[in-house]
Amino acid sequence: MAKIFCVANQKGGVGKTTTTVNLAAGLATVGQRVLMIDLDPQGNATMGSGVDKRKMPLSVYDVLLESASIREAAVLSEKCGYHVLGANRELAGAEVELVALDHREKRLKTALSEVADDYDFVLIDCPPSLSLLTLNGLCSAHGVVVPMQCEYFALEGLTDLVNTIKQVHANLNRQLQIIGLLRVMFDPRITLQQQVSDQLKAHFGDKVFDTVIPRNVRLAEAPSYGLPGVVFDPAAKGSQAFVEFAREMVERVRRG
Ligand code: ADP
Ligand code: MG
Repeated sequence: MAKIFCVANQKGGVGKTTTTVNLAAGLATVGQRVLMIDLDPQGNATMGSGVDKRKMPLSVYDVLLESASIREAAVLSEKCGYHVLGANRELAGAEVELVALDHREKRLKTALSEVADDYDFVLIDCPPSLSLLTLNGLCSAHGVVVPMQCEYFALEGLTDLVNTIKQVHANLNRQLQIIGLLRVMFDPRITLQQQVSDQLKAHFGDKVFDTVIPRNVRLAEAPSYGLPGVVFDPAAKGSQAFVEFAREMVERVRRG
């Protein structure tokens, strides 16, 4: 049975997409069968996995509207070693179309139940909002991975997300929990980042992943080649950190 994780944070530009594609590639590297689902109409995770969002015959939009199954719509990214259920601008319209439909927040969950045995991990890249799309992700998932930068307002922003996750847990998905907070774009030379990192650990304890993702220009360059950093430059510090993070995730899942 696949373990399903959302990568979510309602802030934009915090590293959700970078985390999703590199964790997917890292998990594939260590031998896991992975499906990456792009729930952001910007389609960055799709492009960043080597799939052209403008040329996809079917996307997550068709899955949400039940005109295609995941098996029909997902494609293998051969370079990356994982399957991609892509997104493009069409998905922005799904929000409006879904509102009128039954079980609107459980469409993705229903579709995923058919492929649960095809994968070890399903990773869902969420848009930077707490929208109906994100809700579909949260209703499908066993857990949430929250990438965050160790900045002054980081903890404040977390409160909204934690409350949303609590509400979804109470009303829609009893299995949902925060798996962990991932410190990303970390620069240990900046004293403030070190301090916020210490605060995070004091506050959230075990919920803070051991792995820390450093700020690394190779991770930022990789998307322009249509690849996750882990595939584009496996030797880069940031790529190695993501493979390490993949191992940590496998270990957490094993421990339960
Ligand atoms: P989100 O999906 O939350 O909007 P992205 O993953 O797109 O965030 O990241 C925002 C920007 O930061 C992108 O330009 C990305 O390349 C860059 N970035 C993300 N993680 C790192 C990192 N560890 N080191 C350097 N740049 C990064
Ligand atoms: Mg993104």
